[in-house]
Amino acid sequence: MIAYIGLGANLADPVSQLQTACAAIAALPGVRVLGCSPFYRSSPLGPADQPDYVNAVMAVETDDAPLDFLRQLQAIETQQGRVRSGNRWGPRTLDLDLLLYGDQVIATAELTVPHPGLSQREFVLYPLRDVAPADLVVPGVGRLADLIAGCPLRGLAALEEA
Ligand code: ATP
Ligand code: CA
Ligand code: CA
Repeated sequence: MIAYIGLGANLADPVSQLQTACAAIAALPGVRVLGCSPFYRSSPLGPADQPDYVNAVMAVETDDAPLDFLRQLQAIETQQGRVRSGNRWGPRTLDLDLLLYGDQVIATAELTVPHPGLSQREFVLYPLRDVAPADLVVPGVGRLADLIAGCPLRGLAALEEA
């Protein structure tokens, strides 16, 4: 199954957090990396008194069932020092969201796919476009190209060093 992962970090050298996470994802059993977007800088969502984020999207092929795959991603977050403070959208060393899992629509307590924030978030849509087919459709939502057309950049910019 082809899955897309949203990566984000805004603490403890976010660029190297993302690089480490890419390597950890590539090393997961049964995972093959199809592509990784450039790294972008974005303004924080929610509380504004925190550093900017660095974001990227990876496309992978995985043998795992969706919930198993999410748990693997959460293990990587924990390995990289993610502390679950209960403060939603607060600063973090690493956030890995399962954006899409093939064309599946999943709505359980632990996992919602497509990721609910995807269609409004510039820091997800633009890097997703870098790694997805041009005609990608977000199941139950619409065409990626249409979502991008309705989503301003809000200061999103590619990082030069990535
Ligand atoms: P947001 O989900 O709005 O981007 P967040 O990434 O800060 O916010 P977290 O604290 O990282 O939220 O995750 C909260 C919970 O969301 C996780 O415990 C996980 O079970 C659940 N969750 C549901 N759907 C997904 C998904 N598609 N990808 C990652 N986590 C998900
Ligand atoms: Ca997130
Ligand atoms: Ca998350």
